[in-house]
Amino acid sequence: MSSFLKHIEHVKPVTSSYIKLNGHKFYLGINDKIINSKIKKFINEKIKVFYNKKLHYNAPYIDIIGYLCDYNLIITDKNCGGYCDINNKIIGYKNGGLGTIFHEISHTFQKELGFFEKKQNIISEDIFIEQQCETMAYYLYNGIFKYKQITCKNFNSYFEIEDIKFLIDWYGDEKENDMINI
Ligand SMILES: [Zn+2]
Repeated sequence: MSSFLKHIEHVKPVTSSYIKLNGHKFYLGINDKIINSKIKKFINEKIKVFYNKKLHYNAPYIDIIGYLCDYNLIITDKNCGGYCDINNKIIGYKNGGLGTIFHEISHTFQKELGFFEKKQNIISEDIFIEQQCETMAYYLYNGIFKYKQITCKNFNSYFEIEDIKFLIDWYGDEKENDMINI
């Protein structure tokens, strides 16, 4: 692996299988195939920021979020672990610890990388975005905490049918539901 990725080169690559639902690939776990080298380089650069700012495992979430993506943090009681409001630059947090925080920060990276510019107003595309985001969170977390590695099993949001149902409920009429018969 090139030295451009030196902060994530120790992270164990991940694979998983997928099933097809309504013609769309639905991965059953985080997967290297849904992130490309541009994403990996971006995460690598953000990890440099983390080190340069001398952040650590117990740093306040507001500092981690501030330095990695410059969003505001609010505590939420919505029906979720956390959420990312791209338009208002807010990360909402309820529970799940750093796994949730890094997931929501990864959405801001997706935004910066242009993934949110693509049409993402149908549920199947949103599922892909969530699965990609969770994979990014795995790399971000394990890239930063070289000596506190946690396995892909800890990054398990949006890989079960129940999660699709959650997204359909969460968005209501906001997104077209092309996963109607699952
Ligand atoms: Zn998400």
